[in-house]
Amino acid sequence: MNFMNESAHLYQLQKIDHELDYIDQRIKEIDQILSSTEKLQEADQNITEAKRRTHSALQGLRAVEDEVKSVVLKKEQNESTLYSGKIKNPKELQDLENEQAILKKRIQLLEDEQLEKIIYFETLEEQEKERVRDYKNLQAELISQNSEIQGEKDKLEQNKTRLGIEREVTLRSISSANLQSYNQLRNSKRGLAVAIIRDDSCSACGASLRPAEIQAANSSKEMFYCASCGRILFSG
Ligand SMILES: [Zn+2]
Repeated sequence: MNFMNESAHLYQLQKIDHELDYIDQRIKEIDQILSSTEKLQEADQNITEAKRRTHSALQGLRAVEDEVKSVVLKKEQNESTLYSGKIKNPKELQDLENEQAILKKRIQLLEDEQLEKIIYFETLEEQEKERVRDYKNLQAELISQNSEIQGEKDKLEQNKTRLGIEREVTLRSISSANLQSYNQLRNSKRGLAVAIIRDDSCSACGASLRPAEIQAANSSKEMFYCASCGRILFSG
């Protein structure tokens, strides 16, 4: 064939439109990725949560520390009373010594508890630092991902402009009636208006074509439609 019939131009138009559809879809996806702050917000929330836990563990630790201090003070006061020699009554002395033994035991228990709380606090503090590191890593990852994806978007926009020009040029070879038919088929046939003929069949629906039909599809004069699916046939 030395000249292109309109179905060839429509086939070309369809190729361009498919590429444009892909570009629009991808740009939409990219815009969504670029505007999404969900992951970062989640990481930020994790830090807040970790800080809250660390703070509450610290409060628990301080409470035990205060209690240790007050019991130690009480014991020291008792000691100084004992050694001052002011108390002569043996019963009173015995009571004081008994109390000292109880206070010693109490201090021992409180110090064990204090140690546990220190370890717990330090574990949470480490977790908090980890969450902050996670946040910073994610932030850096997103920045690099976004710049990569922005580069992809720029290329897509360039292609879109180029295809837009190609489309205008292609449209000059298509009559308005055929363009209307193409647009209607694109809408009703999920984007595929023009089907190529392959192995003497319509490549879209698989219907086999008679030699006369194939010849008609090759003709430059008029468009030929698949009798089975209604698409424009192009001999390729
Ligand atoms: Zn068909």
